[in-house]
Amino acid sequence: MVEAALLFTPGPLTTRTETRRAMLDDWGSREPAFTAMTTELGERLLDIAGARSSHVAIPLQGSGTFIVEAAIGTLVAPSDLLLVLVNGAYGDRMVEIARRLGRRIEVLRWPENRPVDPVVVERALIDCPAITHLALVHCETTSGLLNPLEAVATIAARHKKPLLLDAMSSFGALPLDLGGTVVAALLASSNKCLESVPGIAFALIERSLIARAKGVAPSLSLDLFDQWRGLESNGQWRFTPPVQVVAALLEALRALEVEGGPRARARRYAANFRTLAEGMQRLGFRLFLDPSVQAPIIATFHAPGDERFRFDAFYAALAKRGFIIYPGKLTGNASFRIGCIGALEPADFEQLVAAIASVLDDFGLAPERAAEVQSFDASAEVRR
Ligand SMILES: *Cc1c(COP(=O)(O)O)cnc(C)c1O
Repeated sequence: MVEAALLFTPGPLTTRTETRRAMLDDWGSREPAFTAMTTELGERLLDIAGARSSHVAIPLQGSGTFIVEAAIGTLVAPSDLLLVLVNGAYGDRMVEIARRLGRRIEVLRWPENRPVDPVVVERALIDCPAITHLALVHCETTSGLLNPLEAVATIAARHKKPLLLDAMSSFGALPLDLGGTVVAALLASSNKCLESVPGIAFALIERSLIARAKGVAPSLSLDLFDQWRGLESNGQWRFTPPVQVVAALLEALRALEVEGGPRARARRYAANFRTLAEGMQRLGFRLFLDPSVQAPIIATFHAPGDERFRFDAFYAALAKRGFIIYPGKLTGNASFRIGCIGALEPADFEQLVAAIASVLDDFGLAPERAAEVQSFDASAEVRR
């Protein structure tokens, strides 16, 4: 049997065997055993964010985009005005969702290698009092950039504007306490830093905010108010729940607790990132982002300048050796990405770097001499 490939991707990603094994049973959606699982799921998600008393957890069938669309449709009414802060493809996706839903929006943009500037955000709120809500992407997976959540949340709170946070690629790894950081709605999914299989997304929403959202959503299946009321009334999902995916996510959440919670997971990801960044630098690759804005979640590398380099051939040669990497998503630069998240250790990244070295060798693209290597620390935000 061929050994399973390792996924160095932002999700679906490499999961633990125990997580996949947790799916080997059947559960009826109305069975007390399953409603108890749904309850435990909500409690564990809220506990990760220190939000049990302030927020409610609303799970939803689907991938991350489904919960972003559901949250904008449910929380932003047609008469509201949403300010979207964009420095990558996922910020743009929120703009696209709001447009499709016919919601009124304002957009502030920054280049893909620059963080959102809180000073500019505050000025926009002062200049345009009609703005009712803010939307921010915490870690922009397009590049791997970490946006200044604390500063933006402080400004949103000062101006009393609910902040919608796409925490898809940070939740579970970058420590977050909603008791101190005011986030009205946090959105994430099962298959990124929680290291489970895809199929569930969820929102942690301030109880007072969701309570006011009756009848706002233009969609039936993506109405988070109705989904919440359904869960509160009888513990059941309104439509067929992905029962096995719930079981896997619960197992993955228990594993996160055993690991030591988000803080410990962030340390492992930072060690993964360091191993990768230093190894790639030795091979002559350059990171796209400045270390000061780099999250230890996913690394974007410039494609080598050598015109003989072809990403598709590079990808295929690595896949053949059992290492799956990820294409770039930047608008202007030829790049590729390597995820640092999932059930992976620094030793896996050493193997990956060795495989990349051997592929470069095969292609006649190996650097002539070892490059100077600076040591790396992408965990500035994590250590604070
Ligand atoms: C993965 C991701 C999403 C959701 O993407 P899906 O493909 O729908 O899972 C949204 N925002 C960010 C920042 C992401 O990394």
